[in-house]
Amino acid sequence: MQIYRLAVLSDNYVFVLHQPEMGIAAVVDPAVAEPVLRCLDQLDAELVAIFNTHHHGDHVGGNLQLLRRFPQAIVYGGAGDRDRIPGQQVFLEEGDRVPFGHHTAQVLFVPGHTKAHIAYYFPPQSPEEPGELFCGDTLFAGGCGRLFEGTPTQMVNSLSKIRSLPDATRVWCAHEYTLNNLKFAMTVDGENGVLRDRFTQVQAQRQRSEATIPAWLGEEKATNPFLGWDRLELQTRVNSQDPIQTFARLRGMKDQF
Ligand code: ZN
Ligand code: FE
Repeated sequence: MQIYRLAVLSDNYVFVLHQPEMGIAAVVDPAVAEPVLRCLDQLDAELVAIFNTHHHGDHVGGNLQLLRRFPQAIVYGGAGDRDRIPGQQVFLEEGDRVPFGHHTAQVLFVPGHTKAHIAYYFPPQSPEEPGELFCGDTLFAGGCGRLFEGTPTQMVNSLSKIRSLPDATRVWCAHEYTLNNLKFAMTVDGENGVLRDRFTQVQAQRQRSEATIPAWLGEEKATNPFLGWDRLELQTRVNSQDPIQTFARLRGMKDQF
């Protein structure tokens, strides 16, 4: 499976999944349709699936236009997003399996950013391959989504599911927010040597206008403060001994950052 990253709008990424031997493609969170259609034309691929993580316009805005060109494509989304995702036909829950050619995605229910948010995880098909995680606006490189419809407890549960995946998982999140996220991370975890190295590297990447996505989940576990609710350094930083409260205070600080 080949994965193509399309940069659209101000800072969104849309991902096109391609299986050349079958001539088929899927798209994750098509904010807009035109760049996806151009990509599909170049690949000479038929769109068979639209995988939506949640209902926000910058994730589903291209659904209907894509369906007009590929009426047989199946539109997937979370069960709780019924009536919020244009063209949705399949209503997914935790543990559901979604076929795409030779591959199968596992569905993770990850509410917090929205109440119905899901993620799609393709486990590695051999020990040398990475897993692929499409997590929308739940986990970002160096950060996490804002809590629009969920509680800190829900978000920590959701991020715990993601944190339990293997380090060798590529994180395909939906926004290029990494530099600003790491600037914030440095204010709460600046003694973390792995974080400092990553911050330096990402500054250089962004100066060259390079994408920082996908990120490695192993690096997220080591540097992302929103996966560190049980780390003593972060708990001390926000003056709490409670994991949920630690997460909530970090999220609150980031909201003001
Ligand atoms: Zn969103
Ligand atoms: Fe978004």
